[in-house]
Amino acid sequence: MKISVVGYPRIGADRELKHISEQFFKKDVTATELMAAGAAIRKEQWLFQKESGVDLIPSNDFSFYDTVLDTAVLFNLVPHRYRELELEPLDTYFAMARGYQGKKGDVKALSMKKWFNTNYHYLVPEIEDDTHITVTGTKPFDEFLEARQAGVHTKPVLLGPFTLLKLARFTGSKTVDDVKEDIVTAYREVLTRLNSLDATWIQYDEPALVRDLTEDDLYLFHELYDGILSAKGSSKILLQTYFGDIRDIYGTAPLQKFDGVGIDFVEGSQSLELVAAKGFPEDTILFAGLVNGKNIWRNDYEKSLYLLGKLQEKTTSIVLSTSCSLLHVPYSVKAETKLPSDYIAHFAFAQEKICELAELRDIFDNAGREHPAFIRNRQLFSQKREGSNPAVQDRVGAISGKDYIREPAFVERERIQKARFHFPLLPTTTIGSFPQTFDVRRNRSQFKKELISEEQYKDFNKKKIADCIALQEEIGLDILVHGEYERNDMVEYFGECLDGFLFTEKAWVQSYGTRCVKPPIIWGDVSRTRPITVEYSVFAQSCTDKTVKGMLTGPVTILNWSFPREDISLKESTLQIALAIRDEVLDLERNGISIIQVDEAALREKLPLRKSDWFTEYLDWAIPAFRLVHSNLKAETQLHTHMCYSEFSDIIRSIDDMDADVITFEASRSDLTILTALKDAGFRTEVGPGVYDIHSPRVPSVAEIKNALGSMLATVPVEKLWVNPDCGLKTRGTEETISSLRHLVQAARELRTVL
Ligand code: GLN
Ligand code: ZN
Repeated sequence: MKISVVGYPRIGADRELKHISEQFFKKDVTATELMAAGAAIRKEQWLFQKESGVDLIPSNDFSFYDTVLDTAVLFNLVPHRYRELELEPLDTYFAMARGYQGKKGDVKALSMKKWFNTNYHYLVPEIEDDTHITVTGTKPFDEFLEARQAGVHTKPVLLGPFTLLKLARFTGSKTVDDVKEDIVTAYREVLTRLNSLDATWIQYDEPALVRDLTEDDLYLFHELYDGILSAKGSSKILLQTYFGDIRDIYGTAPLQKFDGVGIDFVEGSQSLELVAAKGFPEDTILFAGLVNGKNIWRNDYEKSLYLLGKLQEKTTSIVLSTSCSLLHVPYSVKAETKLPSDYIAHFAFAQEKICELAELRDIFDNAGREHPAFIRNRQLFSQKREGSNPAVQDRVGAISGKDYIREPAFVERERIQKARFHFPLLPTTTIGSFPQTFDVRRNRSQFKKELISEEQYKDFNKKKIADCIALQEEIGLDILVHGEYERNDMVEYFGECLDGFLFTEKAWVQSYGTRCVKPPIIWGDVSRTRPITVEYSVFAQSCTDKTVKGMLTGPVTILNWSFPREDISLKESTLQIALAIRDEVLDLERNGISIIQVDEAALREKLPLRKSDWFTEYLDWAIPAFRLVHSNLKAETQLHTHMCYSEFSDIIRSIDDMDADVITFEASRSDLTILTALKDAGFRTEVGPGVYDIHSPRVPSVAEIKNALGSMLATVPVEKLWVNPDCGLKTRGTEETISSLRHLVQAARELRTVL
């Protein structure tokens, strides 16, 4: 039996790529140095996989920013606004990724969206009416040759044409129908070139196949591949799917045209059923995705063997594979030196998952259940893990229907709160964090290393808070924040203050570009043992007469940005977290905090990819879990929430149902498309769609912000509109932040005078 890896992390085990890219952005290192660092990462990873016995090792899964962006550049999907800058190719690439503001012009980045149901974000390719789709890049070929030089024969990975077209945005009047021929021609050319380089396998990633598909989609898929595969030579073609099952396309004859089909048996709830009921094409190899590419728990070999046994009743040509790219897990548990070994024993990161694949192959080919690795694995799964807390389980069991309902109802609360706060029209605020400058990070790390006392650590934070409040007053913002200097990360910070979480030192996962997150691991039942944010919030409020928002992370986001348990349901875990955050919310209120923001940045993250499952398998518990957090607040306490994505037209009613008083969300990188949806839904919650993009260092002009607000006012009633950036400011530099916020305040003030 052979083993295949869908894709590998690429930021470097020590986040080398992040660090050098950031130096490159600051012009501290040259493009040549950046290229060399990328090459070193690729080589090391290829060699590791080869030495571990992986048969089908991916190439072209590396990226300096994002592989969807790489694909756009490969096919010349470079919008005019970037071409017109006339930059070097690498600078054009980064201008598309991050925006550009300099001597040659001022352009925004491409919009960024969540990659299916993960916390990875891709850049949305744009196809303009006169985009000439053709192969202008060489990355897949270069990396294949580079690997060969290093003695590794790889499997080039391409984003498939179907998914590319589904993700792309057509900015003019053209549609998929107008470009599909050119897309086919371009993909054929890539295929021909990879053929001539003697690639044995070529992988086409088509995660869009796990969504609900229409007849037209199926037709398009087959049309695209019929066209491309007519250029098929000696290279074998793998259709790789992941993040779910492919029930809509499974069983249609044309799957046979592929030499291999990769199916996800971890997230694909119907994958096994499909193979069992419909069989598998005889001449095609089944790439069975058994090792979870999205979570960090060890593979349960007993389950995998059972599954393999079932699959073998239908086909004997099986390749063992990861369920999706390993991009979504950290590099190696070897970097974790602080966790006790009996905890570590339960984890498998990218490297360990590769070893699991190799072990599974060995178990399968050789000794079966007598294999020492199998026996070890079974022992691990039979041990009872500590971390169970009966009191928490009882509390969850006792939740009743009324615990999910806040009274009085929204309209009444809105009236009471307007009377209490007297904010001006278009109140200005920020999302919470302020730039995490070097001194802030140093303070935290010195405290962690016990180089400074807790008192010194806190005093420093309080000084920062006082300065931050003074700065916001000076800028003229209406509702202030404390700046979140005590937080490394909005989820990790809360996890650390709650029982039931575990933390890693280096388990970084790429979120977008150079940005990584270090998700905590939910190990046991979750509870709050002491107040978390009260001290800093109360201190911040004491620095000013203006209102300071208390700032918390919501239960769904804490769950979605952690590695969740696999031994209890997501719903159960989320309710446990919700009760803990509820305690914190009520403590803040008790301590005089009058506005509390509970961020649900990642609410959409685990939304099922099939619309048909949205309400029955996710929103039905996720939205109530949020309401549980704030249902006991007094009417005059204002509850805000914040969301980090722009795409929520389709779940807009559920978002209104969260029953927050105010919601701020990301909007500026998606051209405010959300506004129509707000209007159509008769959205009740007050809203602050972000007026500028914080993912880019660009400073928006006053006119630009006024413009954005102008469009918002065309659909949102003025009494319901808030003015704020897209998201927290912690990744931004101080100067650009101050300038941007000054512009924001000025824009709101100028507009007020004409309202
Ligand atoms: N309050 C958080 C911050 O400002 C929200 C971050 C987020 O939405 N990702 O940093
Ligand atoms: Zn956000």
